[in-house]
Amino acid sequence: MALLKVEGLGKSYTADKKILKNISFEIKAGELVSIIGPSGAGKSTLLRCINRMVEFNEGKIIFNNQEVGNLNKKELRHLRANIGMVFQHYNLVPRLTVIENVLHGRFGYKTTMQGLLGRYTEKEKAAAFHLLEKMGIHEHAYKRCDQLSGGQQQRVGICRALIQEPKLILCDEPIASLDPNSSKIIMDLLKSISTEMGITCLVNLHQVDVAQYYSDRIIGLNKGEIVFNGNSTELHEDN
Ligand code: ADP
Ligand code: ADP
Repeated sequence: MALLKVEGLGKSYTADKKILKNISFEIKAGELVSIIGPSGAGKSTLLRCINRMVEFNEGKIIFNNQEVGNLNKKELRHLRANIGMVFQHYNLVPRLTVIENVLHGRFGYKTTMQGLLGRYTEKEKAAAFHLLEKMGIHEHAYKRCDQLSGGQQQRVGICRALIQEPKLILCDEPIASLDPNSSKIIMDLLKSISTEMGITCLVNLHQVDVAQYYSDRIIGLNKGEIVFNGNSTELHEDN
């Protein structure tokens, strides 16, 4: 059973240029799939169509048996709770602590910035701390996010995506700003999130070798079209 099905997806931001053209693919539950392609290929746009951070013009996206294009406001909130998002630049709130950033991912800000942590329940805080432990950064839980290295911040970003207990996480170039060592840590974590937690991962990458090493499957995108969809081992230079 496909968790995600994309059928004939088309997207343009402006009348004169089609960014995505007739995109079709399926993702099974628990798979780790990479989308690779040069800058400007449309990878980021494709991910953003899936949770309707951008509206698409043509085709269908079916997530968990629901047609994403038809959802009303309430259904869309529910969809977004089932789809976590991880960004290249982490998108954390710098002046909040690590654990506050994670809690924010699920429970939102609870009114003012002062004494934020006091406003969450013990159970909510325990859930956030447990995730930080799983990602190996619990020792930084009460530091401000902007005191952490890039790789550490990305682990916080992953915790924030996971705290909603999503079925799918969309990762938009999660390692593009990281050194090789931090990149390896992040990719190892994404791998274990798919294999051990059973959460489906769709990851935009531009490094082919990383995609080949970690992914169950690779989708190649170029100029808004799918040019490859298959096993890592089937991917050759000429694709
Ligand atoms: P990638 O993630 O593969 O680098 P993007 O999806 O970011 O590709 O961008 C694909 C194309 O869409 C680029 O030409 C980019 O300039 C254009 N684009 C992206 N976002 C917008 C937007 N909000 N409005 C207009 N054009 C956009
Ligand atoms: P990144 O590759 O890190 O996502 P980009 O420069 O491609 O950075 O895009 C940054 C932001 O600008 C995104 O929100 C994207 O949608 C938007 N954007 C990109 N290209 C355009 C464009 N041609 N017109 C308007 N917005 C754009």
